[in-house]
This record gives sequence, C-alpha cells and structure tokens, in this order.
Amino acid sequence: MSDARLWLERIRELPIPDGIRIMNVCGGHERSISMAGLRTALPPAIRLIPGPGCPVCICPEEDIYQAIRLGLEGEAVVATFGDMLRVPVNLGRQAVRTLEQAKAAGADIRPIASPIEARIIAEKAAGKPVVLFAVGFETTMAPVAALMAEGLPDNLYILCSGRLTWPAVKLLLDSDECVLDALVAPGHVATVMGPEEWAFVADDYRLPVAIAGFTPASLLRAIHSTIVQWLEETPRLDNCYPEAVKPGGNPKAREFLDRSFDVAAGNWRGIGPIAASAYALKPGFAAHDARLHFPDYDAGDRRHAGEMPAGCDCARVVLGRIQPDECRIYGKPCSPRSPVGPCMVSDEGACRIWWAAGVRK
Ligand code: SF4
Repeated sequence: MSDARLWLERIRELPIPDGIRIMNVCGGHERSISMAGLRTALPPAIRLIPGPGCPVCICPEEDIYQAIRLGLEGEAVVATFGDMLRVPVNLGRQAVRTLEQAKAAGADIRPIASPIEARIIAEKAAGKPVVLFAVGFETTMAPVAALMAEGLPDNLYILCSGRLTWPAVKLLLDSDECVLDALVAPGHVATVMGPEEWAFVADDYRLPVAIAGFTPASLLRAIHSTIVQWLEETPRLDNCYPEAVKPGGNPKAREFLDRSFDVAAGNWRGIGPIAASAYALKPGFAAHDARLHFPDYDAGDRRHAGEMPAGCDCARVVLGRIQPDECRIYGKPCSPRSPVGPCMVSDEGACRIWWAAGVRK
C-alpha cells in the first residue's frame, strides 16, 4: 500500500463526529490537494479550505499600477515573475490594465523566473533603469534579499511587494468570522523561516497545526495529525515535513532577509493593511528603492484603492470565506482564458487551480 493510501485509510478510521475545517495556506499545497483529488477522497466531514497563500492574488493593486506606469511613462525596464503580467488593476475599460497590455503598448516588460535575471538584464541595459517588481512570500523574497546583499548594479531598483505569510493567518484567527479549526502550515516557508514560526497557532489560539510537504502522502499525514490533535484536544505544532524543515529554518536565507529588509505594515489586496506583514528595503538600500527613486510614478490617490475587480469574489476566496466555485462568476465569465480576478491568473491562485483540476459549476 502506498504511503498516501495508508494515511488516507488512517484518516478514514478516525471518529470525526462533526465537520472539521482545515485551512491550507500554501498555493503549492492547494495544487497538490486539487490535482490528487484529495477533497473527494477524504470523508465529507473534512472541509479543506484554501487560504491566503497566493502572493500574486494579494499583491496590492496600487503596486501593479505603479509597475505599469514605470514601464509606460517612466521608460524603465520592468522585470517581474511571469504570473504578474496578467493580473488586472481596476481601471475600468482603459486599454492598459495589466503589465501584459503595457508590454503590448510598447513598455519593456520582461517576465523572469528568478531574481538573478534582473541583474543580468540591468547589466546589459547600458545604464537604462531596470525595476525588479518583487512579489512573493518568504521563499521568493529570500533570493531577492540575497541578490541585494551581494550588491546591485547602479541602475537596478526594487519595487518591493514581498509579504510574510504568518501575519495573514493571525489576522484570520483574530477575525470574528474565523473559518478554520486547524491549519496545515506551508512547508516551503517553514523550510526558510523554521517551524517555530507556526507554533503560535497552537500556543496562542489552541488550534491544531501541522507542517506539510507537497506530496499527497505528506499532506495526508499533516491532515491526519491535525484531526487527531482536534479529537484529543491536544493542539501542538507537528512538523510532518522533517526531511526539509529543520529547527531554525535556513540560517543563510534568514540572514539575507535580515540584512536586506525591514518588516513593516503592508496592504494585502482584498484584505487590507496587516501589521508587520510586509518586507521593506532597509535604509541602506534607499538608492535602489524604486518607490523613492521614481516618486512621480507613485500610486498617489490609488494607494488606498487596492480592491479586487468589481463583481469578483477573490477577497472572500483569499480569506477562505467561500470556495472558488462559490464565486458568482467562476467559469462564467471568469476563466483562465479571460480572468476577472487575480485568483484565476496565478498558478498559485485557488480559482485557477480548481479550474485546472476540472472543477466546474
Ligand atoms: Fe476572483 Fe474569478 Fe475566482 Fe471569482 S472566479 S473569485 S472573480 S478569480
């Protein structure tokens, strides 16, 4: 019997009297769960809820707007991760609402797979300003921090939209509308930051929490752990991904993060501001801070307009308050071919993942 089958059988043997709501924070987890069909394989009393684990989905709308302006009006080369190119901002029927459309309109927008590519682009740009639009959680921001710590070319600037994951989970737990009874914590983040970062879920909120890897077996093991903790009323942090997640995390990556970034309050699209949830460039990197260097292209009045597109339920999906197929426009008109909200754009967005897994209304 495979490990996944074994854990599934163990879960099925558990006496689950009522429904239990287990949130998985990570887009990678959601992809594994959906593609392996774990929701239909598990007993119906277990409700798996995708959480705010897609950095593209929660990237402030005003930051995307600023990146578009930097490319179109500031004549900077804008390098960013591919998923960001199709995320729309709220500009009504205006022709340019995404970085992809800005590129079609003549802006020099470069999709990249790794931050190091931004340095290569800058070195070849003959002094032309290059902006790395850095969007991501801890695992993505660690390589950005390493790039910065190793020294940046004079013409390379960072538009930083990095976020930390645990403050968003804390916000959910503090909410009157808390939607989870247990948490499957993100394995990649814990690999960088250490498992200890997730202990607050059990210590402060008395809820089960288990860190999972990305295989169905690892996820099922973590799900089993949270249900046992819940049944026995013994919440604790269980590291179910010990082969990758070590106490203290990755010291080198954490050192780079500490050297390059401060932690500040940050806006999350669809959620709003969250205290101590955003990476901000240390003052020593001010010469490379795109927000300081290009103030004319600041989002200005749009700074507090960072809502989801009209008619879209992404905010409620991101907060786990509804499942993707409960959105009013899931599939019609919102689909990967014509995404309305960011959750249908990104490979880590719950709506796109559910659509790719064949979930239809
Ligand atoms: Fe947003 Fe589209 Fe998902 Fe609705 S279906 S929540 S509009 S991405």
